[in-house]
Amino acid sequence: MIDSFGRRIDYVRLSVTDRCDLRCRYCMAETMTFLPHRDLLQVDEIAALADILMARGVRRIRLTGGEPLVRRDIGEIVARLGGRLGSGLDELTMTTNGTQLPRFAERLAAAGVRRINVSLDSLDPDRFRHITRRGDLAQVLEGVRAAAAAGLKIKINMVALAGLNAEEIPGMLAWCIAEGHDLTLIETMPLGRVEDDRTEHYLPLDKVKRRLAEQWSLRPSAARTGGPATYFEVADTGVRLGLITPLTGNFCASCNRIRITATGTVFGCLGQDQKVELRDALREGGVAAVDALLDDLIAGKPKGHDFVIGAAPAVARHMSVTGG
Ligand code: SAM
Repeated sequence: MIDSFGRRIDYVRLSVTDRCDLRCRYCMAETMTFLPHRDLLQVDEIAALADILMARGVRRIRLTGGEPLVRRDIGEIVARLGGRLGSGLDELTMTTNGTQLPRFAERLAAAGVRRINVSLDSLDPDRFRHITRRGDLAQVLEGVRAAAAAGLKIKINMVALAGLNAEEIPGMLAWCIAEGHDLTLIETMPLGRVEDDRTEHYLPLDKVKRRLAEQWSLRPSAARTGGPATYFEVADTGVRLGLITPLTGNFCASCNRIRITATGTVFGCLGQDQKVELRDALREGGVAAVDALLDDLIAGKPKGHDFVIGAAPAVARHMSVTGG
């Protein structure tokens, strides 16, 4: 799949649920309405869709949500997609908040998942509870340990938030170095309305990088993981620091992905409304109907997002709906 800007699309973010057991302040509103299970793509439909996408050149799938591990049949989804590894699919990964990893880490590894992203915005239990509105840090840390014990390579994702966790960033990098995890910092994106003021918490990462460079030697790295991060090797640590800078450093020119919601809506861009609805086509029209819709999506894939901090959200849907 090559779009009108010459970008090859070989990476899919596949949301399996919009539900989450946390309510991160920058991600969700305090009160959210979630979809009924019957509206979601079922396991067979997810597997069929993966096959269609792989036939069109998709090589990597990242499962996300909401929180993927709160979906009841997530074990089956992972096992089914894991079965495609080595026969068309190069990599199956997941982004998770980690709370359910103590139960699932072994199953992910057994299905062929080799690396996961764990979102963790604070190592202070009170602050973690405040940011997530309910989370138990100890449970997430137990999840991270379970994942490491299962042999999964872990990257910590931390949304950098002025006035909330900014002063913790050097400590988080030090912790990641001690534990052997990579760290990626993310600028907050204006997606959906939340109660908090995103302008107040917006923290440009160029400033953060300068501060980290006073303490560690950061060498630009050519590493790519299929995502939008720019990487730096943290010298003599074996750890990589990633920066995802949708606001200060637009990366849309190298976009290689599409995003599929739990109901089968496919977005060409996280920050735009361009979309096609695949669920009914999957249920009624079969492969040809799905292919025709994907052709439309790729032909009209937007050049990039128009994120502006301080303005109204770029799109009404929250990150948890599109799949982060
Ligand atoms: N529940 C899983 C998790 O916590 O990783 C997967 C879904 S979550 C929406 C994916 C990632 O998006 C998390 O790292 C989260 O911090 C990030 N995220 C959510 N809303 C965001 C926003 N408005 N700006 C930047 N990152 C956001």
